Amino acid sequence: MKYVSTRGQAPALEFEDVVLTGLASDGGLYVPETIPEFSQEEIASWAGLSYQELALKVMSSFVAGSIPEADLKDLIDRSYSTFRHQAIVPMVQTGHNEWILELFQGPTLAFKDVALQFLGNLLDYVLKKRDQKVVIMGATSGDTGSAAIEGCRHCDNVDIFILHPYQRVSDVQRRQMTTVIENNVHNIAMKGNFDDCQNLVKASFADQSFLPEGRQLAAVNSINWARIMAQIVYYFYAGLSVGSPARKVSFSVPTGNFGDIFAGYIAKRMGLPVDQLVIATNSNDILHRCISNNDHSKKALEHTLSPSMDIMMSSNFERMLFELYDRDGAKIAELMEDFKSGSMTLGEAQLSKARELFSSYRLGDDEMIDVIRDVFENCEYLVDPHTAIGVEAARKTRRNNDVPMICLATAHPAKFPEAVKKAGQKEDPALPHHMSDLFDREEKCEILDHDAQVVRDFVASNCRA
Ligand SMILES: *Cc1c(COP(=O)(O)O)cnc(C)c1O
Repeated sequence: MKYVSTRGQAPALEFEDVVLTGLASDGGLYVPETIPEFSQEEIASWAGLSYQELALKVMSSFVAGSIPEADLKDLIDRSYSTFRHQAIVPMVQTGHNEWILELFQGPTLAFKDVALQFLGNLLDYVLKKRDQKVVIMGATSGDTGSAAIEGCRHCDNVDIFILHPYQRVSDVQRRQMTTVIENNVHNIAMKGNFDDCQNLVKASFADQSFLPEGRQLAAVNSINWARIMAQIVYYFYAGLSVGSPARKVSFSVPTGNFGDIFAGYIAKRMGLPVDQLVIATNSNDILHRCISNNDHSKKALEHTLSPSMDIMMSSNFERMLFELYDRDGAKIAELMEDFKSGSMTLGEAQLSKARELFSSYRLGDDEMIDVIRDVFENCEYLVDPHTAIGVEAARKTRRNNDVPMICLATAHPAKFPEAVKKAGQKEDPALPHHMSDLFDREEKCEILDHDAQVVRDFVASNCRA
């Protein structure tokens, strides 16, 4: 399987190169040249498979020609052995035909583990095969950093450096990162804000000459296709559990960078009978404005109680545009150029196609708090702020009560005690057993000034030989 850029000007690459590459050379994102499709009979035959067995069926077609099936199976098995629940992504019922898909059973209690546990193993596999080493640099305001660190802590050929703004992430989030003390893991608390961290990382990607000879930077953010690929699996797993493909199924997805819900769209293209795909946003609502009013314009970032969805623009939406415009790379390049100056407008045909595929809803912090309280009062189940937004969006946009609605739970409530307390809980939600000693563990973290040279020197001198 080859991969092509959404802007049509970069060379097509094989799967393994796409995993190591990040952005395409024309600024686009890589997508598979063709999306594999499965018959209803074939999908029906997957009904009894374990999560890992199903992952092998779903991912094989995307890596065909690059990774032998036995190796892929081994990568999948190792990646999901770190999850606390045998089902990997179990479901809980919260209403009539309404389900919560718990994607937070991995090591850092957020759905990003589903993709990043796999990506870490995959990177190490590809790098060893090629006798190559890479450096990962990332900036985080919380979730992504810890999931990336957990994904890469056992990688022999990866050194990972994660920058977070000094004293501006929560204690749980910081400790999830800094208590990983393997010698290829480096946490940098930089004296600045999140944007300073992100800008420094971006500049480092643009000029990598500070790295030791033979090293390059690799990206683990959601522009990496392998993350999307790993996320497609749970749409199939959940759908099969409620009777698909004989039955249609709908999903509501707390959305930030559009990686998660894009995986749902790909599952639909592959043959899963998806009825509704609901884009649920907080007050950073560019996608909701786009679907409802064709208003895809940048607005100032708002800090909300669902911080993992605080984005100004959704980088993976470009992949969706590529499909809406029938894979016309030149048109996508033009639209993204428009967007640089602040906004872009979808064509009429594309907008109506997007509206057929997606419903959307936006929720502010106050309404979100009410949802956490409401779900708890009705079924004694505590949802985190991101999940709450998805639940309410599902309830507000649902067209057909006969179709099971699956709300993706993207984080464990213990990661967001502030919101949970505001919703009337007397105590902080308990951390799961494997993390109950988080506050007793040793921390390792470097506090550095907001100075590109200082950070680069630190990175260069701490890469393993
Ligand atoms: C990253 C994240 C999201 C948003 O997912 P995208 O793929 O960026 O749309 C939602 N909820 C939580 C808890 C997250 O960590």
